[in-house]
Amino acid sequence: MSSASSVTQALDSLVESSTGSAAEPSPLGNNLLDLDPDQAIERLRAWFAEHGEPAYRATQVFGRLWDRPVASFDEITEIPKRLREALAATFTIPSLELTDRQRSIDGTEKFLFRLDDGQLIETVAIPDGNRMTLCISSQAGCALQCAFCATGAMGFQRNLKPSEIAGQVRALRMLTPAILATNVVFMGMGEPMMNWKAVSPSLTLLNDARALGIGARHITISTVGVLPGIIALGERPEQFRLAISIHAPTDELRRSLMPVNIKYPLSDVVAAAAAFDRRVTFEYVMLGGVNDQPLHAAQLALLARECRAFVNLIPLHPGGSMGFAPSTGPVISAFARALRARHVETAVRRSRGLDIAAACGQLRTERLGRRLPIAADQHGEVDVV
Ligand code: SAH
Repeated sequence: MSSASSVTQALDSLVESSTGSAAEPSPLGNNLLDLDPDQAIERLRAWFAEHGEPAYRATQVFGRLWDRPVASFDEITEIPKRLREALAATFTIPSLELTDRQRSIDGTEKFLFRLDDGQLIETVAIPDGNRMTLCISSQAGCALQCAFCATGAMGFQRNLKPSEIAGQVRALRMLTPAILATNVVFMGMGEPMMNWKAVSPSLTLLNDARALGIGARHITISTVGVLPGIIALGERPEQFRLAISIHAPTDELRRSLMPVNIKYPLSDVVAAAAAFDRRVTFEYVMLGGVNDQPLHAAQLALLARECRAFVNLIPLHPGGSMGFAPSTGPVISAFARALRARHVETAVRRSRGLDIAAACGQLRTERLGRRLPIAADQHGEVDVV
């Protein structure tokens, strides 16, 4: 079996279990950070009621989970100590363990977190003027194996939980001095649409004014084009932004770079982008001599115009992508001009954090060493939350 077709087989089972509407509700654990605001406040209200305490205590405690986060109940000094102790005996609010922090000369910072089962995930903080964009992970590893991506090379490990996804933003808020996100992009490790069950509540936690309070237009979900996820995102009433990793303008080239294209070919992805009720961004990594020729620009322009997409040209981050070289500056400029000449709005992204292995999966790869990816056909066994 070719590795590409085994990836798509594994995708079938992953997509079904991650986006299906399984009837049975998942049992709510005691980790308050895995619940969305309504659920958490409801749980806390019920708990305070049982303890003969007023309902306002629930919103008081909830305010210290995300908005002004604390590491433990003991720090919520606005409620009596006996209640803090009793809360800690019932609920947990586990913090992510920061194991590494690297700062680039351009101000970009990269954080490596260790999860309670030892998995490592990355978060990148990118300051730009008044903005602080956090690039967060949605999975440990990734099943998709895009040819140029360091996360793909480490294989799929597991889905992250809401406490681990939104928890990355919370963890940086808890640093001294705090790093306060104004924007969040799901462009760290993993494919968010393959973990929609946890990404959807995470979006609520990021956006809800009672939790992290980041405007929906400042939150971008990046996907290779997993259709059920795009539809589910489109059904949310908030104005979350969608970015699609296109990277090649023909099925043949895209298949060779992104095995997922066998399951979700370009025509389907472009149709889904056109049906999405908000403006979509195409991401296009510029790979020297591979996808950066004038013909590619002409083909890409047709796709972008079909769904009125905005195109972001991304210089390849060289660390960790074996066998690819970044396109040269003049080639990228010419490609951008060719798109604009065809009335496609185009931006050329600056590469950030070049000295700290800041692209998807690169820091973890640096720490753990490169190993062979887990075969895609083993992913069917993975229990998807
Ligand atoms: N799985 C999602 C989100 C994570 S990757 C997706 O693919 O969209 C976020 C973006 O970084 C994607 O567009 C991905 O293709 C790109 N990327 C991965 N490795 C890169 C590298 N070495 N240089 C530049 N961009 C890279």
